[in-house]
Amino acid sequence: MLRQKAFIVIKGINLIMRTHLTERLYLSSPVFFQNILVSISGFIEHFCRYKGTYNDLSDQLFENEFKTKEELFAIEKKLLDEILNYAIQNVPYYQNLQIKSPSIENFPLLTRKTVFDNPENLLSKQHKNSKLIKLHTGGSTGNPLTIYLNKDIRRRTYAFWNRFYRIFDVKIRDKKASFVGRKLQHPDNNKPPFWRYNFYDNQLLFSSFHLSKQNLPCYIEKLNSFKPVIIEGYPLSILRIADYLIEHEIRLIFTPKGISTSSENFTNQQRKRIEKAFGCNVFDQYGSAESVVFACDCEHKNKHIAIEYGYVEVLDANGNLKREGEGELVVTTLINKVMPLIRYRIGDMGKISYKKCPCNRNYPILENLYGKVGAFIQANDKRVSTAALSISFEYLKNVEKSQIIQNEPNKIIVKLVVTSSFTEDEETFMLWELRKMLGETLAIEIQKVDNIPPTANGKYQMIIQNYYKD
Ligand SMILES: [Zn+2]
Repeated sequence: MLRQKAFIVIKGINLIMRTHLTERLYLSSPVFFQNILVSISGFIEHFCRYKGTYNDLSDQLFENEFKTKEELFAIEKKLLDEILNYAIQNVPYYQNLQIKSPSIENFPLLTRKTVFDNPENLLSKQHKNSKLIKLHTGGSTGNPLTIYLNKDIRRRTYAFWNRFYRIFDVKIRDKKASFVGRKLQHPDNNKPPFWRYNFYDNQLLFSSFHLSKQNLPCYIEKLNSFKPVIIEGYPLSILRIADYLIEHEIRLIFTPKGISTSSENFTNQQRKRIEKAFGCNVFDQYGSAESVVFACDCEHKNKHIAIEYGYVEVLDANGNLKREGEGELVVTTLINKVMPLIRYRIGDMGKISYKKCPCNRNYPILENLYGKVGAFIQANDKRVSTAALSISFEYLKNVEKSQIIQNEPNKIIVKLVVTSSFTEDEETFMLWELRKMLGETLAIEIQKVDNIPPTANGKYQMIIQNYYKD
């Protein structure tokens, strides 16, 4: 999250930080100079992130970590009351709604479309003329949103990352290998190195766009010489390396403390393969550029929702909003006063539970988190979601990656990247599983491919729906 291209608006003058020109200049520079540029940008970023509110909030978050359920509810209530009051007093959208009392029950659901149509209407009057960061997010859904925040909100967010990293004993400047979709060199340039070094933060940034079988040995050699304490980034990029390691029975000469993943959905099976190949646990984080929710795995692989970051509800099948149970996630920011999104339909499905976790944290747990609400395959009048379809591939050991594409009503294409041990039986099983969900009438074409490339932002999409548009 927050890695979107950022435009900083200073006193009404648009200062474009990463224009095509600077990107082109970067790409045409020699590698050693690119490393210097990456380090300078990392240095500036470091000092923007880790100061002021970051330190105060970090201390507060560590203090909260093992509080009782009642104490956490009280903290959440205080923050919620504060943001609701603030929104009613300062945000035109909420002022126009004429909400009588600042209680969450009185706030209507907020759709992506409302944010998309008029983002400035959700901007606080108090921050309107201050230094803001403007992000564009959610491009893969077809309608990218404009989101406003400021440096202070980003610092707060990094305090939550800091608490997350401490779960697996990682500190900010520990050696880190990152696979986060940064364009480090031209996608057609197949000449190593496929990484750049951010000197100040001990961070080696790897390209997610050059992970071909031919290039993977270079990545592995570099990881072995760098020996990162933590590997972070898109799970399916990291999985690509993991699968290569497993297939070629390669053992790494280092063991990271953990692998931190975010931004992409992946199956338990895929998680296990990463853990096997790297010999450590995967810790997944769930968040969004809108700064409305932050949840992350604990030592027991339960994804705890940070109640100091966002207030999360679920909208069940009957249209009721609840604090527990399964449904569409509805989130309220507790940290973004620049653009307070309240009861915002973020577009993900999940389940909230308050079950006891052996880690002793009393934060609610986000379970069964799956795909964007909009991602589905349609068979006749039936719609099947990403989460359901991903089950068809869950038990197939020899399917490294899969993608389902629907370009027409009566047919889907299933792209598979398989190992040499993939059998006809596995294919039959997969088809049987798919048929269970999609019925018999839909034609299923299987295409075995060498790789499924990521989309422009470096992420993989399990379902590409080109025919039905909502
Ligand atoms: Zn836990």
